[in-house]
Amino acid sequence: MQKRWMILLLAAAMLIGCAGKQGGSESVIPTQKIEGSSLYVRKVEDLPDDFIMGMDASSVIAEEQSGVKYYNFAGEEQDVFKTLAENGITHIRVRVWNHPYDKDGHGYGGGNNDVEKAIQIGERATKYGMQLIVDFHYSDFWADPGKQMVPLAWKDMDVRTKADALYAFTRDALMQMKDAGVAVGMVQLGNETNGALCGEKNFENIARLMNAGGKAVREVCPDALIAIHLANPERAGAYDGFAKKLEAFEVDYDVLASSYYPYWHGTLENLANVLNGIAETYGKKVMVMETSYAYTGVDTDFSGNTISDESANIIKDYPFTVQGQANHVRNVIDTVAHVKNGIGVVYWEGTWITVGTKDWETNHEKWETYGSGWASSYGGSYDPDDAGKYYGGCAVDNQAMFGPDGNPLESLKVWNLVRYGNEVEPRADAIADTVLAFDLKGKIELPETVDAVLTSNETVAVPVAWNVTDAEIDAMYKGGVKTYEIVGTAEGLPARAIVSMINFNFLQNFGFEDGVLDPWKTEDRGGADQLYVEEKITDSLNGTYHMHFWSAAKDSVNFSLYQEVTGLSAGTYSFTISIMGGDAGDTEIYCYALVDGVEVGRTPMQITSYGNWDTQTVHGIEVKDGQTVTVGISVKCSGAGSGAWGKIDDGLLNSEA
Ligand code: CA
Repeated sequence: MQKRWMILLLAAAMLIGCAGKQGGSESVIPTQKIEGSSLYVRKVEDLPDDFIMGMDASSVIAEEQSGVKYYNFAGEEQDVFKTLAENGITHIRVRVWNHPYDKDGHGYGGGNNDVEKAIQIGERATKYGMQLIVDFHYSDFWADPGKQMVPLAWKDMDVRTKADALYAFTRDALMQMKDAGVAVGMVQLGNETNGALCGEKNFENIARLMNAGGKAVREVCPDALIAIHLANPERAGAYDGFAKKLEAFEVDYDVLASSYYPYWHGTLENLANVLNGIAETYGKKVMVMETSYAYTGVDTDFSGNTISDESANIIKDYPFTVQGQANHVRNVIDTVAHVKNGIGVVYWEGTWITVGTKDWETNHEKWETYGSGWASSYGGSYDPDDAGKYYGGCAVDNQAMFGPDGNPLESLKVWNLVRYGNEVEPRADAIADTVLAFDLKGKIELPETVDAVLTSNETVAVPVAWNVTDAEIDAMYKGGVKTYEIVGTAEGLPARAIVSMINFNFLQNFGFEDGVLDPWKTEDRGGADQLYVEEKITDSLNGTYHMHFWSAAKDSVNFSLYQEVTGLSAGTYSFTISIMGGDAGDTEIYCYALVDGVEVGRTPMQITSYGNWDTQTVHGIEVKDGQTVTVGISVKCSGAGSGAWGKIDDGLLNSEA
């Protein structure tokens, strides 16, 4: 009898806790459009009412301890969780580390987020009507595809014991949250667990650990969704392969969640295909669990950012502006909302801003004391290779949705406005860089218009005024091969031209890198067995393609390879080309130039053996306006037994003084 009562009480407590029907909570999430915004937001059609609009806010408490103040749109200091809810955020995500402290109690950083911090954050989220997404890393510090370190306390456990410990830890953490009245909406079993979890790499072990965690979730929070979180959707087949294993090992979960950082993670179209595939093949819900976009290239905490104006080799779909950030969020929501079983998008992490704008020393002290940087120096005791070397501040302060002063950015309203649309008149938001190359002997002509990116993310040409003097232009001609930056103004916004002064090559497909012959031509006088463009990096002078020839019979290597060029400005030009080969016997090889069909120059060339390129030039090709120039190489080999062969690459037609 007594036992039955216990069970009933437990069940009642679960309902209260995990459903979040705790007294004192009052939703401030708007059910209507936020009016009066200047943000351009195209409505996301058919967006479900219960679509998850998530914000990771893991660092908030460490930020506040470091002196950060957050404000609302009226400029009043206000609980940042209230401000998030007021702008349409429905779920708060929080990372949980088992024990992010060294033996002396110093926090590792990244918010020093343990269960206790997660409860505090969960209570504040619940207070304003939001649900908590609990992101168990099952590590003492950051877990991602590159590292899944086991918590120190579990270090020497075999996988069965570890699974028991993981179950007990998860159950205890969720029970504490439930007791505190936190509305837990979703629980992640690990963070970006592509190849490992909690120090285990064998999938059977990973599955065992996941099921141990999942069991605790089902028992304590039966209404919460269980998520498996992966990264790198751009890697073909990676998610499907993982989901297949989850199915094979009967891992109990509801949601396959993806990180999506557009700089590296492929297109939205690819993301949609990948998530659709998971939903259709395995019947799971899908979502984006982490995404972000830079609203500025500028760092504000003296600790370098992951993404900046100088970032090389990244995909930049939008300008780094507040509107660009909003357009990114809107388009990710639009993508996930139209994927089968797509349930939501979470941003990482909009509230992690600079702890001060004075100097590095002041900030460093706060990062060390309160854990408000990504890692403190103490993190090195657990993670010597990463935290131990690179500890510091926030690397994503320029991707937050609050400015360095704690005021919300207009982009925060996107979470509400996507539901209704806010198609205000598009205006110029940023000017795209203009990339130009001019011949040192040619004429510098800066364009009169540049591309403006509108708030609607459309591009239009707008007039530009370049800030450059005749003397500076003159110096560019005299400065040799070099790249310059010229600034200007368009639509009141800064414009920039990246101008390279080069020895312009007037030939097209000059090194055969198009993979075809055109617009080169051949005249095959000897009927060669092989005469074609070949892809073979080791046989190319540069790049991966070159012109290849070989022929067995004597005297059958006898051809010209040439290109005609029209529209050259009057002047003097030179033609250069390279050849290598062998088994040639007697040869007559030369590069040449014709003007309007009349030969004006030729330079002898030779082939000797593999890898010995002969590069020769025809100088002094005088051209008048309107004349056609033909440049080429003539190759004639008698052959020395097994057939003459060779490679031709990199034709250059340059201006010459
Ligand atoms: Ca930074």
